[in-house]
Amino acid sequence: MRFRYKDLTRFYKGNTHLHTTNSDGQLPPEQAIALYRDAGYDWLAVTDHNVVTRLQDRSTRKFCLIDSVEINDNAADWRTRHVVCIGVGKRFPERSGFGTMFAAARKARAIIYLAHPHWSGNSLTQIVRGGYDGIEVFNGVTWFHNRKEGAVYLWDELLRTGRDVLGFAADDNHGRPAEFKTHDMGWIMVAAERLERGSILAALRAGRFYSSTGPEFRSIELDGDTLTVRCSPVQHVWLIGPAWVNRRINSPPGTVVEQHTFDLGPLLAKEGRLPYLRLEIQDEQGNRAWTNKLFV
Ligand SMILES: [Zn+2]
Ligand SMILES: [Zn+2]
Repeated sequence: MRFRYKDLTRFYKGNTHLHTTNSDGQLPPEQAIALYRDAGYDWLAVTDHNVVTRLQDRSTRKFCLIDSVEINDNAADWRTRHVVCIGVGKRFPERSGFGTMFAAARKARAIIYLAHPHWSGNSLTQIVRGGYDGIEVFNGVTWFHNRKEGAVYLWDELLRTGRDVLGFAADDNHGRPAEFKTHDMGWIMVAAERLERGSILAALRAGRFYSSTGPEFRSIELDGDTLTVRCSPVQHVWLIGPAWVNRRINSPPGTVVEQHTFDLGPLLAKEGRLPYLRLEIQDEQGNRAWTNKLFV
């Protein structure tokens, strides 16, 4: 078993799911880039529907753009599938049908994850059959639509049954409404070696990132059986395993924690070999952050 978050250096903030005027978004690509750059993001994957908005060549040393796409089809039984493909190749068969586009993304070694499964009506069986690298555990726009922003239960089920499926938080920004913020609702922090396409994609593939709607993981260290988490001020730090398995610190209202240590020895001695352990933190406002499965 390998500790996924070994030797973290720094994180790069990115959004993996947003739309522009090239599909059903309301911001032209230039404005979308400026919005995220000004909000302190380091990189962006623009994911218009079934069409690749080519921006990669505009990457700079300070802001990285990765050509990406969201492919989707519709079923008649109140269910659809929307799949985000991060890092598609130079030639992508746009608007050519879901299966053809999915195969092309796989061939290009894109990171392929299922977007907003709750909003799409996706069952666990359907997700397993899809063979995705990850699922969205938080999706900003579907919070506006119908409170179907989360998918942590489905994620835990995938992890419990032995799958190393990655968890993504993203805005799925479509622009308006102007009176509400539609960007910087959910993002990922990637522990890439450099701010550059290949390096970010490699870190995504390795699951060396965490998702957030607010709090920050500052470091996650393992020394023997001792797991130490340092984070922005939060009220709760949970170490979460299958079903009921947990260790936690729940700080009383009005107080916060910024560091906690878990002794994994007694936990593993009691529970035996676990299919997964992951960390989750929550601040006083209810914002959350999630690591991927810690050991792979
Ligand atoms: Zn979608
Ligand atoms: Zn979308």
